Amino acid sequence: MTDTDCIFCGIVSRRIPATKVYEDDAGIAFMDIGPIAEGHVLLIPRAHVATVDQLSPDEAAALLRPLPALVKAVQAATDCEGVNVLQNNGPIAHQVVQHVHFHIIPRNPGDEFHFNWPAHAYGPGRMKQLAEEIRKNL
Ligand code: AMP
Ligand code: ZN
Repeated sequence: MTDTDCIFCGIVSRRIPATKVYEDDAGIAFMDIGPIAEGHVLLIPRAHVATVDQLSPDEAAALLRPLPALVKAVQAATDCEGVNVLQNNGPIAHQVVQHVHFHIIPRNPGDEFHFNWPAHAYGPGRMKQLAEEIRKNL
């Protein structure tokens, strides 16, 4: 399961160089080449899977097993105050590389990374209605 046009498959096959920090049978973690902040790391599966919903439960579990250790290591190495774990699916969600990846991004006071988090309110009954739709689709 590789895609010859995919940059991250190129990193898995070592055709494209990357500065790796961790690897196991399921995935690889390496330094992001265009970091939002110093120490920005990406965790990817070895298999070419485009988006997180396309991972099997076992693939997802195996991929994310090192996530807590990676977050701790990034925090320790950069002495950052916090970390965002970010995962984009689809171009509308700012996914540029169509091979699933988790961003581990160090955060510090006054840094340049900002969310627009509007925190809307639901109308009457809407939240429960949507929860029911989500449960039906699981
Ligand atoms: P996304 O917008 O979620 O698809 O993020 C893609 C990320 O991949 C960006 O943060 C890029 O800087 C990073 N990236 C792209 N090419 C490479 C590469 N060859 N090595 C390391 N990181 C890369
Ligand atoms: Zn790929």
